[in-house]
Amino acid sequence: MSRSNSKFHIPLTFQESARAALENTQLRRNLGKATQTIRAKRASVVDELPDWQELREAGRAIKERTLRHLDEYLLQLEAAVQRAGGQVHWARDAIEANRIVAGIVLEHGASEVIKVKSLTTDEIRMNEALGQHGVTAIETDLAELIIQLAHEESSHILVPAIHKNRAEIRTLFMHTLGISELSDEPAELAAVARRYLRTKFLSVPVATSGVNFAVAATGTIAVVESEGNGRMCLTLPEVLISIMGIEKVIPGWQDFEVFLQLLPRSSTGERMNPYTSFWTGVHPGDGPQAFHLVLLDNGRSRVLADHIGRQTLNCIRCSACLNVCPVYERTGGHAYNSVYPGPIGAILTPQLLGVERAGSLPYASSLCGACYDVCPVKINIPEVLVHLRAQVVRHKQTSEGIKGKLDPEAIGMRLLARVFRSPERYEQAQKLARLGQIPFARRGIIERLPPPLNVWTTMRDLQAVPRQTFRDWWRKRRVFGSVPKADADGVGDADGVDAEAAAAGRRNV
Ligand code: SF4
Repeated sequence: MSRSNSKFHIPLTFQESARAALENTQLRRNLGKATQTIRAKRASVVDELPDWQELREAGRAIKERTLRHLDEYLLQLEAAVQRAGGQVHWARDAIEANRIVAGIVLEHGASEVIKVKSLTTDEIRMNEALGQHGVTAIETDLAELIIQLAHEESSHILVPAIHKNRAEIRTLFMHTLGISELSDEPAELAAVARRYLRTKFLSVPVATSGVNFAVAATGTIAVVESEGNGRMCLTLPEVLISIMGIEKVIPGWQDFEVFLQLLPRSSTGERMNPYTSFWTGVHPGDGPQAFHLVLLDNGRSRVLADHIGRQTLNCIRCSACLNVCPVYERTGGHAYNSVYPGPIGAILTPQLLGVERAGSLPYASSLCGACYDVCPVKINIPEVLVHLRAQVVRHKQTSEGIKGKLDPEAIGMRLLARVFRSPERYEQAQKLARLGQIPFARRGIIERLPPPLNVWTTMRDLQAVPRQTFRDWWRKRRVFGSVPKADADGVGDADGVDAEAAAAGRRNV
């Protein structure tokens, strides 16, 4: 978690950060416009493929098979990279990974490194770690550069500066790069960044990158990107260090057939990716002459051990789930206080950090399921969210001792569980509720409840318990042996279920 309540150094919850984000109307306008555009592009290129659902299923199957045999594939990958002249390092956590990277950079006497956009390096806070050794990491992706110059954090997996518009970027470039004349035309803004970065590409001796896929069979690494900056970083420096989460391995080359169709369509709404770079070890006289691959765990083994949560590791970081999420579209990425925002962040971050540190994130969702519908590898995000919410409740109950056990929500849920387990108790509860609702129910609707139940009715109406329930009606029907007249067409409200409540049921409550 990156942002905190500075006074107490307690990470902000999603709800606290979201409240502040929702007050920023410019941010919401920027986000609304950008996500709508990407959504429309994605929908049109996905519609072109008649076998899209089969491709999704294939992507899911490849990922799940790989995760089932992850240990074998990782060892295979290590051997293949070493055979091709690369070096492999295993990092248990962020501290180990940063120590390895800093060691390699310092060994080559570099004071700067150029970077291909990489969420994994953001996850381990590599830039800050290198900074402590006097090494500056320079972002070369245009959006990442904007974020770095603004001293901000990314708010979208794929479009890190999605919260900024052109006018804001123009002002930023003028202030940070010392430019006096600049328009907000995209081509002019890109040209300024290009001039600045070109000197870095040609002079900095070490590059770091993330990894989109790593082929176990051949030790080949793949990075997909849109601007060509990645190709520069991967080919020009003398030393290349690639940092990958252990879940990024795939068994063989034929798996690209599936992922290189799924990824660009789901992320940028393109049929194919502008730059897809592959490299295998080192080749004399061609590209970097030293290649290091850092295999990062950082909590992933724990995620793998969870039979529901492990599907999170299928993620190919396309960001389609962010672009369709009604919560993300309104709050933006910073509210998630994590390098992984949106629905994927809401399930990945609590699993990597633990629900005790990121327990508010599984609640950053209405569980509408739009993320599941678009996910190219069929991660059932709502299922994982509910699973994590249960963990949050359990954690609260066990960690807070007697206070946790006396938590009103926990007590309420325990009571409800007892009521729903017994038909007799359920009917008694209905009778009690019918009496208890008398001061609040009007025309079959409860618009306001007293505290603490008012949390529910602040945002929505509650349907009152009807005067006659279905069970009452059914019992009466059996006693008198007759079917109410209106039952002939299956409606059956005249003599049966409370007409007011039935009418209310047609309202959107
Ligand atoms: S969870 Fe699915 S939709 Fe979201 S970023 Fe990962 S692969 Fe894409």
